[in-house]
Amino acid sequence: MNTATIAASTTIVTSTTIATSATPEKVNLLGMTRAQMEQFFLDIGEKKFRAQQVLKWIHHAGVIDIAEMSNLGKALREKLARIAEVRPPEIVSQHDSADGTRKWAIRVDGGGLVEAVLIPDRERATLCVSSQVGCSLDCSFCSTGKQGFMKDLSAAEIIGQVWLAIQSYDAFQSGKGRVVTNVVMMGMGEPLLNFDNVVSAMNLMMEDLAYGISKRRVTLSTSGVVPALDKLAEVSEASLAISLHAPNDALRNELVPINRKYPIARLLESSRNYIDAQRDTKRVVTVEYTLIAGVNDQPEHARELAALLADFPCKINLIPFNPFPQSPYRRPSGNAVSRFWQVLVDAGYIVTVRTTRGDDIDAACGQLVGQVVDRTRRSERYRNAAEQNQVTEAG
Ligand code: SAH
Ligand code: SF4
Repeated sequence: MNTATIAASTTIVTSTTIATSATPEKVNLLGMTRAQMEQFFLDIGEKKFRAQQVLKWIHHAGVIDIAEMSNLGKALREKLARIAEVRPPEIVSQHDSADGTRKWAIRVDGGGLVEAVLIPDRERATLCVSSQVGCSLDCSFCSTGKQGFMKDLSAAEIIGQVWLAIQSYDAFQSGKGRVVTNVVMMGMGEPLLNFDNVVSAMNLMMEDLAYGISKRRVTLSTSGVVPALDKLAEVSEASLAISLHAPNDALRNELVPINRKYPIARLLESSRNYIDAQRDTKRVVTVEYTLIAGVNDQPEHARELAALLADFPCKINLIPFNPFPQSPYRRPSGNAVSRFWQVLVDAGYIVTVRTTRGDDIDAACGQLVGQVVDRTRRSERYRNAAEQNQVTEAG
């Protein structure tokens, strides 16, 4: 057995202590917003303030066993347990990177796998959350897109990633402080194609009775589903990131096929309307630009981008392409990235370069889950071998 292929601190979760078996006939309270849960209690003939109590049990205390929700009264707990449950998705494996990044493979209803990644950075910790199993949009540089679309996650499966991340640090009970300070909808899937569930889950991220994260620290990233983005301002105050990746339609049509339907001008207009509709005036859109060697990383692309975004309220986030098997693309050199960055900075933009985190556990953008199935199988083989040989994993 080649133990070198096993991350030093890979934990395979074999117990089902936090994952109960599927009981589809019961209502899952985990993904309900405050308004939805208040309505639920009214519908079952109870007072709506029960929603506040239950939300706090689930999202502040981390309690998912209805029997333990002691301020509900025994009769109500029994009634509730007959018709409802609090069921997070199931962690299949957890990988810790040497740089502190932690990644989970998570099994959702129907058996599909998604990933969530927690990236600590000084006083911040950003959780990257998935919204779909696979993705239908097939961007040419994205491993998720290569898998095709399998399923929309439920609101419970989306907010469940936040719940599981906190639970995995035992932080509900310990009062260790905030494990998750920021959330980005930048895992698998296109969030605007799973609109209602993503909106509900983001609502819970920002809700004081749940995670109370500020609206500026919850970011939805979209490749440009313009009609859905046009509707988003009516129901969400989250921050917005757009996956631009090219300074003109001809190139973007190749990289981000949805551009053929909703070209750059429409995406920028819709994004501007979104932030204009927000109550606070100082908001900007984050423009994500994945740099691919020889494709969109030349100085002339940077100049064209600078001209395109003149007067557009934004900051720019450059993401050096993260390679994955079977991709023809390459990551640009450090020099190419600096040159590109410099052109934009000289033009007056605020530009950040996303450093690759969790490289040793394939946690970087675009690497999510592509290898999970394989890694999980490999890990399963290891676990079986370890059980037989009584080998204990390190870390
Ligand atoms: N579907 C949404 C959110 C998920 S992808 C979107 O496309 O915006 C999150 C970000 O990672 C997007 O900007 C996406 O374009 C980028 N990305 C995808 N694959 C990548 C790769 N292999 N290397 C670098 N960035 C990638
Ligand atoms: Fe889907 Fe985003 Fe990947 Fe494009 S980059 S295929 S929209 S997940």
